[in-house]
Amino acid sequence: DPRLKAISDAISVVPNFPKPGIMFQDITTLVSDHKVFKHTVDIFVERYRDMGISVVAGVEARGFIFAPPIALAIGAKFVPLRKPGKLPGEVISEAYELEYGSDCLEMRVGAVKQGERALVVDDLVATGGTLSAAIRLLECVGAEVIECACVIGLPEVKGRRLLDAKPLYVLVEPR
Ligand code: IMP
Repeated sequence: DPRLKAISDAISVVPNFPKPGIMFQDITTLVSDHKVFKHTVDIFVERYRDMGISVVAGVEARGFIFAPPIALAIGAKFVPLRKPGKLPGEVISEAYELEYGSDCLEMRVGAVKQGERALVVDDLVATGGTLSAAIRLLECVGAEVIECACVIGLPEVKGRRLLDAKPLYVLVEPR
């Protein structure tokens, strides 16, 4: 797919952000190019439009950029999975490990019902810890996670194709 090279080329790499030694993959340059942003959303929409998906769950914060246009185009609802303390009302939480310490994702109770078919979207998968927590949140309420989709995946993850026994779909490797 020739669109993939344009997508890869539009991602910028920022050395030593947010910490020394990290090569940060920055998708803000991708989304500021209308054509390439549209290619990115289109590829996901072509893949998911006929899969009976009723929920597109986006992971805070950069998953919120890609999940809503996909949800609108495939006729699904968008559900934000947020960092702790951001969502009002009753929530369920799932913790996950980071390189140093841990973090947590939350989802509103009632946002997703038992038996719903869910797609999880984020910008980038590295260890897969974040997506695993997202999968647990959705499974906790009885939804079926059909696939996890990311724009960028580390080579070892991109080749893996499965995350916690769920299919993983990644467009490009880090630049
Ligand atoms: P994982 O949990 O190790 O798979 O890390 C993935 C999470 O970290 C995602 O929510 C990403 O948004 C974020 N992340 C890690 N590295 C980068 C990066 O280089 N660019 C953008 N996001 C990143």
